Amino acid sequence: MPELRTVTTHCPYCALQCGTRLTRERRGTSVRPTDFPVNRGGLCQKGWTAPTLLDVPDRLRHPLVRRGGELVPVDWDTALRTVADGLQRIIDEHGPDAVGVFGGGGLTNEKAYLLGKFARVALGTSQIDYNGRFCMSSAAAAGTAAFGLDRGLPFPVTDLDGADAVLLAGANPAETMPPLMQHLQGAQLVVVDPRRSATAERAALHLQPAPGTDLALALGLLHIAVVEGWTDGDYIAARTTGFEAAWQRAATWWPERVERVTGVPVAAQRRAVRMLAEAGSAYVLTGRGAEQHSKGTDTVAGFINLALALGLPGRLGRGYGCLTGQGNGQGGREHGQKADQLPGYRSITDPAAREHVARVWGVAPESLPGPGRSAYELLDALGTPNGPRALLVFGSNPVVSAPNAAHTTERLSSLDLLVVADFVPSETAQLADVVLPVTQWAEEEGTMTNLEGRVLRRRRLRVPPGHARSDLEVLHDLAVRLGEPGHRYPTGPREVFDELRRASAGGRADYAGISYERLDAGEALHWPCPDTAHPGTPRLFLDSFAHPDGRARFAPVEHREPAETPRAAFPLTATTGRVLAQYQSGAQTRRVEELNEAAPEVFVEVHPDTAERAGLADGALARVTSPRGSALARVRVVATMRTDTVFLPFHFPGEGRANLLTGGALDPRSRMPEFKVSAVRIEPAQEEVAR
Ligand code: SF4
Repeated sequence: MPELRTVTTHCPYCALQCGTRLTRERRGTSVRPTDFPVNRGGLCQKGWTAPTLLDVPDRLRHPLVRRGGELVPVDWDTALRTVADGLQRIIDEHGPDAVGVFGGGGLTNEKAYLLGKFARVALGTSQIDYNGRFCMSSAAAAGTAAFGLDRGLPFPVTDLDGADAVLLAGANPAETMPPLMQHLQGAQLVVVDPRRSATAERAALHLQPAPGTDLALALGLLHIAVVEGWTDGDYIAARTTGFEAAWQRAATWWPERVERVTGVPVAAQRRAVRMLAEAGSAYVLTGRGAEQHSKGTDTVAGFINLALALGLPGRLGRGYGCLTGQGNGQGGREHGQKADQLPGYRSITDPAAREHVARVWGVAPESLPGPGRSAYELLDALGTPNGPRALLVFGSNPVVSAPNAAHTTERLSSLDLLVVADFVPSETAQLADVVLPVTQWAEEEGTMTNLEGRVLRRRRLRVPPGHARSDLEVLHDLAVRLGEPGHRYPTGPREVFDELRRASAGGRADYAGISYERLDAGEALHWPCPDTAHPGTPRLFLDSFAHPDGRARFAPVEHREPAETPRAAFPLTATTGRVLAQYQSGAQTRRVEELNEAAPEVFVEVHPDTAERAGLADGALARVTSPRGSALARVRVVATMRTDTVFLPFHFPGEGRANLLTGGALDPRSRMPEFKVSAVRIEPAQEEVAR
């Protein structure tokens, strides 16, 4: 394929997928934003500096195999033979489930699809999941239960332009996806966040509940909506079921009780409901802050209940949505790298779904494994008697991004074989037995699905450096070495996408009518798009919801405490999140000089009184300790923090890993870990902070 001088593509990072134009210049690659609807000529600092990623000095260029304790360069045949022989030996001795696969929400649709097929057909393992489980699975579970279908935003981002009021529960787009803020300019913002984030700074109203109490707040807001007569009775009667059961739970959440549990004043609760109810155009949006809890699904359901009571979802100029995080967090969960799903957002336990996908794959339905372990459960089981003895990691860095990081690292280290496919030597790659260098965004063709369910073309500007290969080629080559017919694992992205279309046809996320040709012609195609004459579905639910009776479901949810609450030895609550200049585990952005200058090291935000009690001054090095371990972080004394809460960003490695503090408590339905609540203490430390 010839190299082009200019391509129109999208940013490699978050789910907004801002439109960009890349140009090869004599001195490197330059980027310009395009007038794409989500960013309209805007980019954040990560997007502006993304071309630096293409030429980072430690870019992986050769396959590496560990010999004598060191990772040494080898040729592809040696690396692939090492992996295939190792996998085959483990499968022969222990069965297919002794091999696990861990994918990523940044992989293209084509890679995510082929990875799921490779796991279930070439390896025959049920043990596949991905880091998107840590990102939006609670919203997916709650959205599916409420609406019969989960798509981050069931409307285009541009619909928010006309909003008068928007409630953002646990979302901080001013830092995580800044170009989104231009769509919220005309709206009064109600921000729910234990921390006064950059988004909360711009809000008309900031509700600051204690971490882990947002569900109590959501129940309280529903209570006020009902008692003060703000609900939309006609909408509830015509378009929903289950209101009475949900109301019975919310009925006991009087505003004064909510204030006692959450710390949010009664007057602020009332004002929030009034702002939404009186707005001509209102939206409720949730993010990781609501989701990453052992009750994350119920918490999101609590906010959906509020939206339903006010008559918002499924109406023009109103709605509920989830702000998906990772670049392809949406597409990544639709095409088969989630433990319980097959392509097209099909359930792996549904006999009809298994039969359809097996037919496309040319295998017997009964040969497909059932559901496997969720992401943290998979990591937790590595190297145990009944757990996987080998793991293939594609596009993920769980040493930094998974909860209970010391334990996760220990489990990864206990494997007989750890294989990592990445384009930089991430902290997980540095633990691996074999490292496979793969292509990154501007070196490959493919598709991504953004937070609106819009399918986008990623385009190749330049050839990959050194011996890096596409993940599709790697999967093909491994499958062939494992005895599979090569034609079953195409290496061309267009070919893979055409197969994905067939596999998704008739499923909830139906891509059958979406083609490279239509996308290249500039059509805006949101799934479902069941045939090539179909215009796609930018707005879902306008006529009916996706349940058989067409109605949305209220959920009878009840507040409960987090899995871990403060106590004498750990009197504070740590919550984690992101900063503007870094992205996820930081494996990419920590390699970009401008971003590292802006956000060079981990910090911990502490209220002045809390800092004084702990003997900590601004800029001091602190040791933050939870029952699982401790992290070192530079103190930032922040007057707007709650006195009972500290905040750490989770992008940093080594002793600065915020996930050294977090635990493995999981939401019972989504299996989302409770990243947002850990009981901790904070004290002065002498050590130099790890960068
Ligand atoms: Fe990239 Fe997201 Fe920033 Fe847009 S908002 S430039 S997609 S990181």
